[in-house]
Amino acid sequence: MNFDVIIVGAGLSGSYLASKIKKLGLNTLIIEKSKSIGGRFSTKPVGGGIADYGCQYLKPKTKELSELIQILKNKKLIKKSNVLQYDDAFIAPYGISKIPQYLSLGVSTLLNQKVSFIKKTTNQWEVKTNSFSLKSKILVLTMPINQVSDLLKVSDLAIPNLPTAAYKSFYTITFQNMNAIGSKSILKNDFAPWICNNLLKGLSIDQNIFTVNINEELSNTLLNVEDNKKHELIKRHLKECGFKNFSFYNLHYWKYAFTEGQNNIANYFNENNMLALCGDSFSVGQADGAVVSAQKTFEQIRDVF
Ligand SMILES: Cc1cc2nc3c(=O)[nH]c(=O)nc-3n(C[C@H](O)[C@H](O)[C@H](O)COP(=O)(O)OP(=O)(O)OC[C@H]3O[C@@H](n4cnc5c(N)ncnc54)[C@H](O)[C@@H]3O)c2cc1C
Repeated sequence: MNFDVIIVGAGLSGSYLASKIKKLGLNTLIIEKSKSIGGRFSTKPVGGGIADYGCQYLKPKTKELSELIQILKNKKLIKKSNVLQYDDAFIAPYGISKIPQYLSLGVSTLLNQKVSFIKKTTNQWEVKTNSFSLKSKILVLTMPINQVSDLLKVSDLAIPNLPTAAYKSFYTITFQNMNAIGSKSILKNDFAPWICNNLLKGLSIDQNIFTVNINEELSNTLLNVEDNKKHELIKRHLKECGFKNFSFYNLHYWKYAFTEGQNNIANYFNENNMLALCGDSFSVGQADGAVVSAQKTFEQIRDVF
């Protein structure tokens, strides 16, 4: 099947771009390797509730994200929160993954399909996944820059001069606990810079569901430890933090979590071969970077059609 635009990745950047392109009436397809939409805007069911286990809150620095926030606020998908005592931060009461889910509404999406090879022929891109071979005029890659480089390399394509983005890598744990351990929504200690009670953060749940990010040093140690020992060690740390009665424990490793203090070019677009790159590797990183670079990509695609 032939498309005008194929977007690889259904995270914030890919879904925001899709929401904009949809209005141009272009035949667009999103391809996502995971089984759900969201990327790092991810929410998981945990016991009797849900937990945001990737992006935690939005604190806009750019006009692009501020404008998106206004739209999401009107749809009641986000609300103000005093998370970390910021008075200009927003959280998503039904889970942060509702944002990319809403943005990608009405756009054809293939889930569970990893793009493993891309090829440029005279006037179109061939995109291969585990099940399909698809074609499009424009190809947009929205994953972290290191994953873009990997895909270009296996596809035997030249790697353009791309910006660098230094991602933090760490483990995130989610679980339900009988008690709240204090009245604050966010706590931290030496082992975990982010201990979040999703109930107190403002999610529409009635259980104490926690998201804990483990510090990078311990995460690096855990990477080289056998699974049994890894879980034993983490559970010991959790008990020391005061979590005496937890269940539905789950562990996830983020190789590319987020960058800090980044200020790169807004995106990459090659009009000769119709390849576009956007996502949080560009611009100022995090949610702002993802939206700014997708907006720029949208404007360039609009000018081509
Ligand atoms: C633990 C954590 C906490 C965070 N906290 C915050 C925060 O509080 N505030 C904030 O602003 N930001 C935060 N961030 C960062 C924020 O989540 C990201 O910057 C943003 O979600 C990036 O969106 P994206 O669309 O650029 O990338 P992604 O969300 O990574 O989307 C890329 C998508 O591409 C898919 N993909 C990759 N390779 C392929 C392939 N070959 N084929 C098909 N699909 C593929 C991936 O599965 C993914 O869904 C946090 C991130 C993490 C992990």
